Amino acid sequence: MTGLVLVLNAGSSSIKFTVFAAAPEGPEPIASGQIEGIGAAPHFFARDAAWQVLVDRRWDGEDAPRHHAAALAVLIGWLDDSLGERPIIAIGHRVVHGGPDLAAPVLVDAAILAQIEALVPLAPLHQPHNLAGIRAAAEAFPGVKQIACFDTAFHRAKPWVADTFALPQRFYAQGIRRYGFHGLSYEYIAASLAAEDPALGAGRLVVAHLGNGASLCAIAGGRCVDTSMSFTALDGVPMGTRSGQIDPGVLLHLMQAESMDTDALTRLLYHESGLKGLSGVSQDVREIEAAGTPEAEGALAHFAYRVRREIAALAAAMGGLDALVFTAGIGENARALRGQICEGLGFLGIAVDAERNRANAPEITAPGATVRVLIRRTDEERMIARHALALLRDTVCAG
Ligand code: ADP
Repeated sequence: MTGLVLVLNAGSSSIKFTVFAAAPEGPEPIASGQIEGIGAAPHFFARDAAWQVLVDRRWDGEDAPRHHAAALAVLIGWLDDSLGERPIIAIGHRVVHGGPDLAAPVLVDAAILAQIEALVPLAPLHQPHNLAGIRAAAEAFPGVKQIACFDTAFHRAKPWVADTFALPQRFYAQGIRRYGFHGLSYEYIAASLAAEDPALGAGRLVVAHLGNGASLCAIAGGRCVDTSMSFTALDGVPMGTRSGQIDPGVLLHLMQAESMDTDALTRLLYHESGLKGLSGVSQDVREIEAAGTPEAEGALAHFAYRVRREIAALAAAMGGLDALVFTAGIGENARALRGQICEGLGFLGIAVDAERNRANAPEITAPGATVRVLIRRTDEERMIARHALALLRDTVCAG
């Protein structure tokens, strides 16, 4: 199969994209970038695979793209001009929520679009933008197959005990479930490890995806067993600005004692909590580390503690652990914090080699430790491109 695969990730004010060439050994990225600040001060930026800047454009006049469709038109115009004759053969979309039923990537048609739309109440901050991206792409590329890949899909494999809250059963039936997110990242890491070392891929992994948004996932034999995020991307470990798991009684108390309404609680839990709320400095680990105040140190210590606790809980969900994998901005780069997380996990067989950890080496296991500790770069876009090509191949074969 020759041609290009365009991967789109449409957020509230940005469209991120990567263009892949459909090479025989799998999709190879040739350009990536984003249009950010849509609706305010848009900025279009793209690089090629060698990290050369291809475009860096800002608008200040009437012609600035004001909505997703306009931004996508700019992107498409640029792709047409810069990618030469190679046709776009598929468009893969990152979609945050697949609900209880969409458990794998799908070719988008009218029925699927309606199904994705019906899930907007479950992810009101993201799903409408993902939909806008799909609609705009369908208009711009009529006849090109569009594939939706869901952040929740990987987690649909987990057992009911890990999927339910302890609420009356009717809530589960209504879709109040522990969905989990970052699924494309976990799927990519699990597939990469399986390709690199089949025995490890068949084993028990805890993957810690620690970025601005953070979650962890227990994966056994390549399948999700449990994960720290649940109904929304608020649950689990503390994040840049999100609280992570919190006693629901705190919310009842704040509603009663401080008359906080939905908007006030949303602001508090999504934007003012986590590392930013605790440190009073920033959501960015580098700035918190540089601040060095007692509050900043406390924020990092709390984050490390909660991640450590989650690693042990997820190991328990699998009855043991073969490897711990760190990924995303903090997981790949924040050496001190990574070391702090692993302290005290010796009882599980986890010990980190200080030198290797400082060097961000791909494997940081201390000599003699029984659980491997790895650092891997995640690549959700490549995972989407692989799914898009696989579905395209299936439809060509079936057709
Ligand atoms: P997002 O979830 O927005 O994709 P990233 O995966 O880019 O986020 O992760 C962002 C986080 O990674 C920030 O907290 C940032 O401080 C942290 N980070 C990135 N590089 C480093 C570094 N060299 N040292 C410590 N923390 C880092």
